[in-house]
Amino acid sequence: MERRVYLDNAATTYVSSEVLNEMLPCFNAVYGNSSSLHSFGREASHIIDRARDRVCKAINASKPNEIYFTSGGTEANNWAIKGIAYANKHKGKHIITSQIEHDSVLEACRALEREGFEVTYLPVDEYGLVSLASLLHNIRKDTILVSIMSVNNEVGTIQNIKAIAKTAHENGILFHTDAVQAIGAVKIDVQDMEIDLMTMSAHKIYGPKGVGALYVKNGVKIDPLIDGGNQERGKRGGTTNVPAIAGFGKAVEIATRDLVVNQQKLKAIRNYFLDKVMERIPYVKLNGHPQQKIQGTVNLSFELIEGESILMLLDLNGVAVSTGSACTSGSLEPSHVLKAMGLSDELAQGSIRFSFGKSISKDDVDYAIDKLAEAVEKLRSISPLTKAGRKKEKN
Ligand SMILES: *Cc1c(COP(=O)(O)O)cnc(C)c1O
Repeated sequence: MERRVYLDNAATTYVSSEVLNEMLPCFNAVYGNSSSLHSFGREASHIIDRARDRVCKAINASKPNEIYFTSGGTEANNWAIKGIAYANKHKGKHIITSQIEHDSVLEACRALEREGFEVTYLPVDEYGLVSLASLLHNIRKDTILVSIMSVNNEVGTIQNIKAIAKTAHENGILFHTDAVQAIGAVKIDVQDMEIDLMTMSAHKIYGPKGVGALYVKNGVKIDPLIDGGNQERGKRGGTTNVPAIAGFGKAVEIATRDLVVNQQKLKAIRNYFLDKVMERIPYVKLNGHPQQKIQGTVNLSFELIEGESILMLLDLNGVAVSTGSACTSGSLEPSHVLKAMGLSDELAQGSIRFSFGKSISKDDVDYAIDKLAEAVEKLRSISPLTKAGRKKEKN
């Protein structure tokens, strides 16, 4: 295999050298337990403090103690939803979220449903947007939490978070957002946007896997999800993962610092890629919002063929992408996001997500476009759904 091109940055990214350099000393030089009272512990604790300050600044939280480190986005989403549900169950047992959330939100909600909570999964329009009207329509007296993601991981659509948060607050309801795909892609100001709880993760922004954070606005009552020691002010037990947290803090700082430059670069790449693909490949549909979207993620449906097949042919040529559909126990389940946006099963199954990283080169993009055009042409020529394929079948 000569060339490898990674177009799956929405799944995970490499750890940047700036982040790695921040982490390395924490594995052996500064190895104390950040809860210990001696100098080794204090050194570790200073590193945690610095990371907390960095995350606080990057999202404009009012105080660093509003940042709680977790094992990643999945834990933060589970904690936000279950922790708020348990702490507020005397007020009500109804939660509102959307149909296009990450599985860690959807499954946390389903777990609560099994315990007697009620959850409304709001629909989205053809671009993946939640409407304020449907939110308002579904608010009840016993609604305790609205949880809507900032940016969707499959199609890149950006929600109107500030307006949604305002609507929740006007009705006395807490607002949580999964901002894993938003950090480094859209400007986040938790105070201006009236966010009460916000999920973050490191490994989508050139940080290490297995670390993230939940922002919890001061004054918001939340039950712990992980019981244990007094770490994270008694809200999240477990010896702090100092290297990971140091890396996460640095990654958030860099992602925020370089946001505009990175998005400009990705916009040029995205436009170039889309223009070329549309020029060379017929019967392609762009999924997601045409304007209100992040620049790095492009989701396309290729008519008459399956995304899984395109993925495999691209993989044979070293190009890494992902399908909108997850393969569950041998049967192809179409993506819940694309289905919620109203795509037919066929179009949903013919979808591919291309997610570009900040260090992609034009050569790599050209190579990927060539291999994509070849793959689509080949698959359509043997597809029983196309004219060319039908002719072949007769022969
Ligand atoms: C990746 C992702 C998560 C999960 O984060 P992990 O750190 O991998 O657990 C949650 N939400 C969204 C939108 C994501 O893209």
